[in-house]
Amino acid sequence: MQNVFIFEDLAYVKDEVIRAVAEGMAPDELAWALTRENEHIRKRFFNDLSWDDLNLLKKKLHEIGAPDSQKKKAAHKKIFALVGGLPEYKNVRFQQGFDDQEDFEWFLTDAPLPEEAVYGFSQTDTPWPRFFETHDGARILQEITAKNKADGFGIGRLPNSAIQLVNFAVCPKCGRAFSFKELAYYYAHPRQDPSCKTPVDQIREDTRMYCSACKLYFIPSLLVVGRKVEREVQGMSRLQTLYFIEQHFARQDVRVLSSSEANFVRKDKFHTKIMPKETASVQLFLSGIADCTETPAVSKALVKGILNDVFLKELEEKPALACNLLYYTPPALIPNLIEGANVAFNDPVFGIWQ
Ligand SMILES: [Zn+2]
Repeated sequence: MQNVFIFEDLAYVKDEVIRAVAEGMAPDELAWALTRENEHIRKRFFNDLSWDDLNLLKKKLHEIGAPDSQKKKAAHKKIFALVGGLPEYKNVRFQQGFDDQEDFEWFLTDAPLPEEAVYGFSQTDTPWPRFFETHDGARILQEITAKNKADGFGIGRLPNSAIQLVNFAVCPKCGRAFSFKELAYYYAHPRQDPSCKTPVDQIREDTRMYCSACKLYFIPSLLVVGRKVEREVQGMSRLQTLYFIEQHFARQDVRVLSSSEANFVRKDKFHTKIMPKETASVQLFLSGIADCTETPAVSKALVKGILNDVFLKELEEKPALACNLLYYTPPALIPNLIEGANVAFNDPVFGIWQ
């Protein structure tokens, strides 16, 4: 059974695990790991150390002055590596995140990242008009940004940073630029494609946009914009983002997001038939996932949200999935997502649905 190990879980491990960690860490590393941690976890170590080691650890803890999140994170990382080396934790995922905002911004803008295969219906003849290959791309981007601003959504901001995420969807034939609102509406009501088994399949997997004037499908982009356009990945709807992230982890036999029953936040005994729009989209999402057929009585237990057990860091090799996940995450939850604290804090994916 796969689950996620967070630092707080040390409070519940066997004594042997605590001893293995204590043996593998230098005293000052252990002190950094435990500094400003809760008494429960500290006591686990205090109880398992020899008298001499305990005194040394207490001395080191006393010596630590100003907090240093880098040192603390490095120490936690080493603890995870030590625990992960134990046979019984062989299949466990461990909390991980980017070192800091700077590290994450480097990932977003400069890190050499692999090209991904197109997500969704990847017919080779579906055009993908890229920003960098679009004549007049900068002007079109301005136009899209202005439309999004007027609509009040569609621009994702990285907190404490000049970096923005902006959709870039331009018909390769007539040059029409679509705002985020237009994209979102289209994704919820796609032009039916007979090659899709069911409409739900299409909503979940058909990442193409359609220009009705030109009768043409094309693939939209999502841009990372700093001082200039820094990176371009495939754009997709939030439903598709969840779906393709789940597919990615499923290939490693890891169930995340809605494919893990434990992540559902339910509100039981929901009696009214009027369902808020956002909730309806979650319901739709649920009904579209084959695994969820085993979910008991979805109609009775209203789903309020899905907890986010995905670490952005684990999507490093999948920049489109990472950027789309970031794009759809509310700003208040982004720092946790970057640090990998989203699991410890029980953050929902894309915010709680009201
Ligand atoms: Zn067109």
